[in-house]
Amino acid sequence: MQDFPTATGVSAKRAAHVARWAQARPTSVPIMQTATFAQTSATGFDAYDYSRSGNPTRAVLEEELARLEGGARAFAFASGMAAIAAALAWLGAGDVLLLGDDLYGGTVRYAERVLAPRGVAVQVVRAATTQAWRAALERAAARHVVAFLELPTNPLLRIVDLPAIAQAARASGATVIVDNTALSPHWLNPLALGADAVVHSATKHLGGHGDVTAGAVVTADTEGGGRVAEHVGFVQNAEGTALAPFDSWLLLRGMQTLGVRLDRAGEGALAVAHWLHERVGAGAITRVLHPGLADHPGHARLRELVNDPVRGFGTLIAFTTGAAERSRRLVEAVQRFTIAVSFGNVASSISLPCYMSHASVPDAAARPPSDLVRLSIGIEPSAELIADLEQALAAAGVSGS
Ligand SMILES: *Cc1c(COP(=O)(O)O)cnc(C)c1O
Repeated sequence: MQDFPTATGVSAKRAAHVARWAQARPTSVPIMQTATFAQTSATGFDAYDYSRSGNPTRAVLEEELARLEGGARAFAFASGMAAIAAALAWLGAGDVLLLGDDLYGGTVRYAERVLAPRGVAVQVVRAATTQAWRAALERAAARHVVAFLELPTNPLLRIVDLPAIAQAARASGATVIVDNTALSPHWLNPLALGADAVVHSATKHLGGHGDVTAGAVVTADTEGGGRVAEHVGFVQNAEGTALAPFDSWLLLRGMQTLGVRLDRAGEGALAVAHWLHERVGAGAITRVLHPGLADHPGHARLRELVNDPVRGFGTLIAFTTGAAERSRRLVEAVQRFTIAVSFGNVASSISLPCYMSHASVPDAAARPPSDLVRLSIGIEPSAELIADLEQALAAAGVSGS
């Protein structure tokens, strides 16, 4: 029991190495790249036995996720979708899932193709209207009701009045789960605003470098939060969707710079949004959506909810050109932006959500407008991004200047 087992029979003395490691004091969290942990005896267990159930590197990550969101417990998953599926896994026949409209396409697909056939009543609520949520919550007299929303919505960037919806949900016994991928815990802490649980695609801002696919569920110390945590913890082990040790380490490394990356990208997003906004009407830019713009309908409310009322409005900008073909030409003319799904990367990207991230929305009529262009602003100098957009608009015949 004292040696590392190897297939060739050659083994190192475990106790000597463990003693040396215990004194080593690494400044980076070690990657505990092991599937199994030796037991102390046939019946004696320590904290870890098998990495699907628990791994020290993942445990450090989960503690850090809970701290960032101000939650009681956190669970790391192999993707955002695995996290969302786990957070909703406890819903069964007769339960109600209220989904905000304009959600991430994969979430809609999961609800409609996996949960609905299981007997969960999936209902879509106009996300930006608090009254619609109140009415839906009052109507949904079911065993379990979950209100699932994004703030801002994606890609139309509508603002949901989370505290008001959470209050209505609490009154009717419903559980509120917020997908906080877009703003990240640096800018928004939904648990402090009344949500019971938060989910993340950590692939986006938390990872930040486009090099790891990961997800997280963080739960509050509320009745709803406790219910979600109990099931999520079980599902993570039962289904084997937990994040691997190396990916946990990548995510931990990315999260160390979350604040500086987002401060910079948030400023860049505001600069680009203002620049585009000044061009509305002059050429063929018909509308610019960014919650940091003063004329955005949810701007004032979001300002009250975010941790940084100067630049904490996200890194996403959406705009329309009036014609799908014009938008396609524009997307193909940019050089500093990568044409890519996803967002939250240090490198800026550009996409046509209707054909990319939201093509998985089963109902074509519920997809975003076909001329909608979405920008994800990274940490490049904003002047360079603006210069690139200027040449691309001219090349696509959109500038009008
Ligand atoms: C990307 C994304 C997801 C899905 O996450 P994956 O890591 O791709 O599985 C869920 N919600 C939102 C808002 C997203 O942007």
